[in-house]
Amino acid sequence: MEEELDLLRLLVCETEIEAQVSKGFLEENGIKVMVRGLDSGGSVFGGAVDDPEIELFVSPDDFEKAGELIEELMAQEDEPVPAWTCKCGEDVDEGFAVCWNCEADYQPSGESD
Ligand SMILES: [Zn+2]
Repeated sequence: MEEELDLLRLLVCETEIEAQVSKGFLEENGIKVMVRGLDSGGSVFGGAVDDPEIELFVSPDDFEKAGELIEELMAQEDEPVPAWTCKCGEDVDEGFAVCWNCEADYQPSGESD
């Protein structure tokens, strides 16, 4: 396990999917990722995993860039848009980031002018 000594823990994922997506994204960007916690004995369907922590490790050289990439990835993921009221006065349903009426972008409530 000597090669693990130099690796830094980048991320702790709660789900295998999150880990896979993160790993895939990093590798697409040329960063080598080591995942720990995925192969935990095939208990995915056993329902006995209370705390399935999956850790992603990268080398110190890549750590900073990897962190930025993860932030980028998180930002890319569709953030759930709550129902909101547009400045034009129309109510927009949850999940729509653009007003159906005037095509204004979603504005988090609290902004006023
Ligand atoms: Zn509008």
